[in-house]
Amino acid sequence: MDRLSIVVPCYNEEEVLKITFQALRDTLNDLAKKNKISPDSFLLFVDDGSKDLTWKLIEEEHAAFPKQVYGVKLAGNVGHQFALTAGLLTAKDMSDVTISIDADLQDDLNAIEEMIDKFHEGNDIVYGVRKERKTDSFFKRTTAQCFYKLMEMMGVKSVYNHADFRLMSRRAVEQFSKYQETNLYLRGMVPLIGYQTEKVYYDRKERAAGESKYPLKKMLALAFNGISSFSIKPISMVMGLGLCIVFFSILAAIYALVSYFTGNVEPGWTSLILSIWFLGGLQLLAIGLVGQYIGKIYMEVKHRPRYNVEKVLSNEDTNELETDKL
Ligand code: UDP
Ligand code: MG
Repeated sequence: MDRLSIVVPCYNEEEVLKITFQALRDTLNDLAKKNKISPDSFLLFVDDGSKDLTWKLIEEEHAAFPKQVYGVKLAGNVGHQFALTAGLLTAKDMSDVTISIDADLQDDLNAIEEMIDKFHEGNDIVYGVRKERKTDSFFKRTTAQCFYKLMEMMGVKSVYNHADFRLMSRRAVEQFSKYQETNLYLRGMVPLIGYQTEKVYYDRKERAAGESKYPLKKMLALAFNGISSFSIKPISMVMGLGLCIVFFSILAAIYALVSYFTGNVEPGWTSLILSIWFLGGLQLLAIGLVGQYIGKIYMEVKHRPRYNVEKVLSNEDTNELETDKL
């Protein structure tokens, strides 16, 4: 039977942790009782440099349930995405399948069983997707929606209305660990892995206790990171704009020359206005062109895997094939 780990990033979550411990342990016990996961499944809490009693609570819970509750303490606050990655990579070697969930219990724990079922059906990645955003404020809802639309426009593959509540098989996490980039945006990275995926739908609830650790500033930073880590479209847009302006300068030239010959212009205006349009366009075009190369360098330095092997058919013993090197 598969050993499940549930990874929970926590930053200053002392108010909610007690409820979370209980609820998640109940979930584990319930699933083990139904024979869906092995009884040695565990929870892994990652303390993202909290300034309150979060770590102390995790220590106490580990002391009370040493087989079920594990903890990792990061040396400082590195942010949700990094804390989650630290958890995933720690859990990778100890479990067959991992689910990540926020500490605040906004995500529906009942969806976990469905995720496990989908995993047993052969999916390596299962996304938790929110049905509606009734409990989010109007502001959060609209900004989030704009963000997903913008990501789509920029050509970033990501799952609509999915945050970081997801299941990943051990080999999916293994593959994920090969993405060595420093600017993490997990919602964009996981779809790159490319293994068989499924979705489960759930209603997102209010925070069980405490308040959001994602103020507008952090949200904007995440959004910008999401776009800039996955798309060099903004650079292409600058280049496109440069091209348009150069083209426009030709129209402006015709207009200026006609005005010049019909004689109703100030002396010097024609040459001045033409230079402004043409040079401006040319400069943008050149910046865009340089940007294209920088974009390529950017993509190269990430050293992302060029492909991920899903299955191999051969007459050899597949375990001995190093699939990476195929
Ligand atoms: N979190 C974290 N480090 C941070 C900020 C948040 O580990 O710097 C965790 C937090 O404890 C929670 C999850 O990330 O488990 C999501 O944060 P939150 O629920 O505050 O975000 P929201 O649901 O409001 O977008
Ligand atoms: Mg939350």
